Amino acid sequence: MNNRIKYLADKLYERHTLDRSELYELLSERTEEAAEYLSRLAREVRESIYGRDVYLRGLIEFTNYCKNDCYYCGIRRSNRSCERYRLSEEQILECCKTGHELGFRTFVLQGGEDPYYTDERMCAIVREIKTRYPDCAVTLSVGERSRESYAKLREAGADRYLLRHETADPEHYAKIHPSELSCENRMRCLRDLKELGYQVGCGFMVGSPYQTLDNIVTDLEFIKEFKPHMVGIGPFIPHHATPFSDMPAGTLELTVYLLSIIRLLLPDVLLPATTALGTIHPRGRELGLLAGANVVMPNLSPTDVRKKYMLYDNKICTGDEAAECRRCLERRVESVGYRIVVSRGDWRGETRNITA
Ligand code: SAH
Repeated sequence: MNNRIKYLADKLYERHTLDRSELYELLSERTEEAAEYLSRLAREVRESIYGRDVYLRGLIEFTNYCKNDCYYCGIRRSNRSCERYRLSEEQILECCKTGHELGFRTFVLQGGEDPYYTDERMCAIVREIKTRYPDCAVTLSVGERSRESYAKLREAGADRYLLRHETADPEHYAKIHPSELSCENRMRCLRDLKELGYQVGCGFMVGSPYQTLDNIVTDLEFIKEFKPHMVGIGPFIPHHATPFSDMPAGTLELTVYLLSIIRLLLPDVLLPATTALGTIHPRGRELGLLAGANVVMPNLSPTDVRKKYMLYDNKICTGDEAAECRRCLERRVESVGYRIVVSRGDWRGETRNITA
């Protein structure tokens, strides 16, 4: 392997940081051997903190109504061919019941930005889940809201919040979103969430339209500085009924490479091997786990709505029952020598600090 790349990888492994130009070089000069080497280092770091455990999050896609019009997203409001649905509180609770029996201890409620879910309705749902399943963590992923709204949801019992920053470069942000959305407000949301005591996940799409390596370096620097508890990255995949239908998808190779870099930048971060990664390659999630990922997020949504939550084309697992998804993932995780654990799977940073 190129000595310079090995030097940069070793430096990243030892110091958990690199400067801008070094990160750029690590990305632009990447080779198969470099990827293999980084992945070995990332795996070592991951196993030193989380062992061979893989955490499960049950994803409940509870509404595909959305008031936003993000150019890349299949459930954007302008997509008239998207058949809209909402799950009732009862249906959401039914998903949790199934999930709990299957060993899930985290429920992720994800949806479009649907004004029907006012603070009152959302808080009631969170409270009910926390009452019935006090041993479980509730994660919300419902987009941008006011600080007051995030505060109420936190008081109602929400533990975590996933809000990908999408891109940390305001100019790039403006190329993939309509003008009513801003990078600035998204960042404001992330800061508010952290201050309110949520475990927070940010992240971005790999290979999103107009993304440059320089943009990715900016994302990595933002992640390093913001110190999220979780980072969700997956390849961009075009959706046929969006303005980006003809844009190329992100690659498996770059996504996996970035998973390793992120693991080395933030050793104790929670890092999911995402559904999008499993969509562009049949063993994408397994390769993600081998490159430093330690979380999987199987779908717990009722089978009849899954095909309607199409953020991108060809999304996997849209025909399976929750139990099938759980078993299928268990096999996949075991095939790479890891094991799924029945646990909330909290971030390990703080406990490590206490025992250190
Ligand atoms: N409304 C919520 C949830 C969005 S969907 C929110 O704003 O956070 C979750 C994530 O899916 C998005 O943050 C985006 O990064 C990703 N996504 C959307 N469209 C995609 C596409 N075409 N390809 C890959 N990922 C996509």
